[in-house]
Amino acid sequence: MSENIESAFRFCPVYSGSSGNMLFAEGGGARILIDCGFAGSTAARAMAEIGVPLDTIDAILVTHDHSDHTKGVGILSRRYHIPVYANEGTFRAMASIIGKLGDGMARVFVTGCDFFIKQLNVLTFPTPHDAAESVGFTLGCGGKHVSVMTDIGRFDERLLSCAAGSDLVLLEANHDVDMLKVGPYPYPLKRRILSDHGHLSNDDCASALIKLYQTGVHRAILGHLSGENNMEALALETVRQGLRRADIPDGDFALDVAHRGEIGKMYEI
Ligand SMILES: [Zn+2]
Ligand SMILES: [Zn+2]
Repeated sequence: MSENIESAFRFCPVYSGSSGNMLFAEGGGARILIDCGFAGSTAARAMAEIGVPLDTIDAILVTHDHSDHTKGVGILSRRYHIPVYANEGTFRAMASIIGKLGDGMARVFVTGCDFFIKQLNVLTFPTPHDAAESVGFTLGCGGKHVSVMTDIGRFDERLLSCAAGSDLVLLEANHDVDMLKVGPYPYPLKRRILSDHGHLSNDDCASALIKLYQTGVHRAILGHLSGENNMEALALETVRQGLRRADIPDGDFALDVAHRGEIGKMYEI
């Protein structure tokens, strides 16, 4: 990896939540999206609002095939000639959602490998989730790193090592376990969410961040919140309390939450 490239490294969780996801990152001269679970028009409006025209995007990276991550991927690729990067399993599973891509627009990566988009390094790693071949990403540029890990049933050693020391981590805080248990979801769906291939709870997220803190992580964004089974203030408070119980001072760990229906802020890495 090139360690001495002078360039901006920025990250924005444009939207993150169980009803739709789209993340933006810029580094090493590249501008990328991670996932697009929205109609093309919604995505275009949001990107205009953060001042990044879609025709300047170099790549769309896809974490997994679920429609809250893929609904707008094909439309954006065709309309703005953006290459789509995903592994073979995800390309197969999302084929009917994204439709046919233009010639040369499908770029297949092997999970566990890393590659470059311009000078931006992309490390891919498998995530435990009930999708075809779900992955997370660690983006690297100029010696700085951003890790993105949502839609994960459990936080395992591999995820810990792939995000260790990152300057910013977007980690899932999907649900409050009590809200989920008493909430309106049918029992099989509750079981799926709580399983090792479902989604991380606020408590799971806190435990994961305590482990990440020990590797040097001091800044995280809570993401992929459920609309039915979580609230921003509750997620933040639960995670903060967990960190305090582990004797991590508030001032030593910056916590933010990514919004479901409101455009996220731009982070300078
Ligand atoms: Zn999702
Ligand atoms: Zn998913």
